Amino acid sequence: MPELPEVETVVNGLKPLLVGKRIVGVGSSGKNLRYPLPDFALLGQSKLLDVQRRAKYLLFHFENGQSLLWHLGMTGQFHVLGKDEAAAKHEHVRLSFADDLTLRYRDVRRFGYADICATDALGEHVWLKKLGFEPLSTAFDGFHLQKMLKTRKTSIKQAIMDNHVVVGVGNIYAAESLFRAKVHPAQQAKSLTAKQYQSLVKHIKQVLRQAIEAGGSTISDFVKADGKPGYFSHSFKVYGRVGEPCYTCKAKIEKIVQGGRASFFCPHCQP
Ligand SMILES: [Zn+2]
Repeated sequence: MPELPEVETVVNGLKPLLVGKRIVGVGSSGKNLRYPLPDFALLGQSKLLDVQRRAKYLLFHFENGQSLLWHLGMTGQFHVLGKDEAAAKHEHVRLSFADDLTLRYRDVRRFGYADICATDALGEHVWLKKLGFEPLSTAFDGFHLQKMLKTRKTSIKQAIMDNHVVVGVGNIYAAESLFRAKVHPAQQAKSLTAKQYQSLVKHIKQVLRQAIEAGGSTISDFVKADGKPGYFSHSFKVYGRVGEPCYTCKAKIEKIVQGGRASFFCPHCQP
């Protein structure tokens, strides 16, 4: 499943190809994605002004004041191709732009979904309005995270994976940032010190930035906008390494289950 770094990578790949171009048509396979497709006529033949990311949503902002929101679900992929290139298997939506470019949406499992909303009402959109901090924003810092979690009895790992707190910290990134911050994943959120919160936030940002630079973590079938897989998976320090020696202290990496998800940690480095 694409995580925040993959979505950021897709956004960065699409922007230089499509921003400034006018949309001239939309075609679909006729199959619904997770929900029925939105009414693409709302976009008219408007110019694409920008592509942004909020949590794991791609936001395409058009000149006529409408924005297209898109979630890639489990297996969604965007590719930019020439208009005459053949449709790949599982291509479900095709947005045609000026200069004979087409944005193709492929989705084997069809769990992706899309909607169209006025750009100035995006903050109130039901998919977006309850989302927590954007982890790479300056507003997300140790002070504000601690303030938000100071009474939480849940584990810190589950707290940082809660989208109402901070978005985009998936299972891998939570494990990797807790290791780097030397915080045990089962420690109660309310018991972390200010210093631990600062370190944790610093490492969440660092891990996500590294993953974005590597083009995402690529666990299964995610492919970047240019069709090449990302390589962050080669730098996991604890995730998926149960029984293997810690790179720092040689202790064996352990695994526990929290909220139904596997947590990997070093018992020595993360007391
Ligand atoms: Zn260790």
